[in-house]
Amino acid sequence: MNIEKKVLLTIFGATGDLAKRKLYPSLFGLFKKGILREHFAVIGTARRPWEHETLREVVLESIKDDVENEEFAEKFASHFYYQPHDVQDSEHYRTLKQLGDTLEERYQTEGNQVFYLAMSPNFFGTIALHLKSENIVTEHGYSRLIIEKPFGTDLETATELNEALSNTFTEEQIYRIDHYLGKEMIQNVSAIRFANIIFESIWNKDYIDNIQITFAEAIGVEDRGGYYDGSGALRDMVQNHILQVLSLLAMEPPKKFAEEEIRKEKIKAFQAIHKYTEDEALRYFIPGQYTAGEINNERFIGYREEPNVPEDSLTETFVAGAFFIDNERWDGVPFYIRTGKRLVEKGTRINVVFKTSPQLLTSEECGTNVEPNVLTIYIQPTEGFSLSLNGKEMGQDFNLSPVALSYRHDSEFLGNSPEAYEKLLHDTLDGNSSNFSHWEEVKRSWELIDVIKKAWTNHHTELYTYPARTMGPMESYELLERNGHEWIWQPEKWYIERKQLRCDF
Ligand code: NAD
Repeated sequence: MNIEKKVLLTIFGATGDLAKRKLYPSLFGLFKKGILREHFAVIGTARRPWEHETLREVVLESIKDDVENEEFAEKFASHFYYQPHDVQDSEHYRTLKQLGDTLEERYQTEGNQVFYLAMSPNFFGTIALHLKSENIVTEHGYSRLIIEKPFGTDLETATELNEALSNTFTEEQIYRIDHYLGKEMIQNVSAIRFANIIFESIWNKDYIDNIQITFAEAIGVEDRGGYYDGSGALRDMVQNHILQVLSLLAMEPPKKFAEEEIRKEKIKAFQAIHKYTEDEALRYFIPGQYTAGEINNERFIGYREEPNVPEDSLTETFVAGAFFIDNERWDGVPFYIRTGKRLVEKGTRINVVFKTSPQLLTSEECGTNVEPNVLTIYIQPTEGFSLSLNGKEMGQDFNLSPVALSYRHDSEFLGNSPEAYEKLLHDTLDGNSSNFSHWEEVKRSWELIDVIKKAWTNHHTELYTYPARTMGPMESYELLERNGHEWIWQPEKWYIERKQLRCDF
């Protein structure tokens, strides 16, 4: 039986997309598990003049696919209250406080509060300020703040935002969401590394040749062209998700598998990532943008034709690059990364490419070259891992053939992994911030990203194009070829072999 959490949760932006798609279903998940039971209430606030009942209907609508018992769902929704609120208006915070006090009394939440800011980051500072000045944040019980990305647009704006939040909340009270950190397989990276001696003992430059992290999306910018054009792939994906994953792969083993120790090692890993000069950044990072393309007889428009995107936009929808880590363990090992929109397939995966074994067997003796072992960690849409090995082909001759040990399943299909947001909300209620981004990590990641962005702008770097639904510009392949490497995951090959994708791009 799960221990019940007593809490008053206030969601700013309760009428928004994130609240409906992710937060309400995740809270319902916690209710079904008994983590939220009797002693909790949710205040939803936003500008629309809704009633409590309107919010409850929206909540019921958002969880309808998951409801087995109507009465149980109604009971869950009865814990929701709505307060129309303009975040800029001080008066509204007084009403909010009154409602909060009433609900604390009614549900006996013991003063524990979580504030979830599911709205534009422009408002984060104002909200934090008012939560303090109107005495909504108190010393009675705990107060925790969950905030969404983006955390700033560069080091300067991120620092300003952090200072604004720090007037009200300490670092320990701030939970910066990176929803990838809530994903089952990201958390499994540490299990694979630290619970398997066969990996942890060789997790270093002596045995690992390179590591490849791919975050591929098949979709374009959809209706978010306006937002995306001001951001680009480097800020939208690399600064947060990719660097977080990289730090988990690169960090030293923590002394204990406890929040404090993991945090310490992750921060050290971030600090050890080599900060490029502008010249180095130009050599190691490549921006790309999709043009019109076609796969399997389906046509796609180019980025500059997308709604709300300027015709002459220079925003990158793709980035490939290599990071290096300045420490004993990783000296000289490239961590290749790539991410982009309108790539061949949706897929997030990590390939750890080991060095090839000493050439005892020449290709004459074994019929083929000895392939490197590759550990692949699949994050989405399928979850799992596989390890490629060299085996002997059956028969008289001594010929090698690759074999994969594979454990992979479709998490959405099996429904066995809780939503990342549910896990992260649960962690917040537990006061466990190991799966959130710490300020020191955010700060360092902006230092690393700002140089790359500046280098591209100052040197008018060419924006390499790629047809929609390919794996990015040729320059991304050339980046690896320079070091004698290649991308392990090349989903385009499957389509090219079946003549569903042209190979002459
Ligand atoms: P949205 O535009 O759908 O919702 C914004 C909410 O803020 C609405 O409820 C709106 O009423 C409220 N709001 C706006 N101005 C207000 C004001 N002055 N006073 C009070 N309320 C106001 O946005 P969203 O997609 O839900 O995203 C919210 C945040 O989450 C953003 O920071 C976004 O970057 C982040 N995020 C969203 C997603 C997603 O899947 N939607 C994913 C990752 C991060």
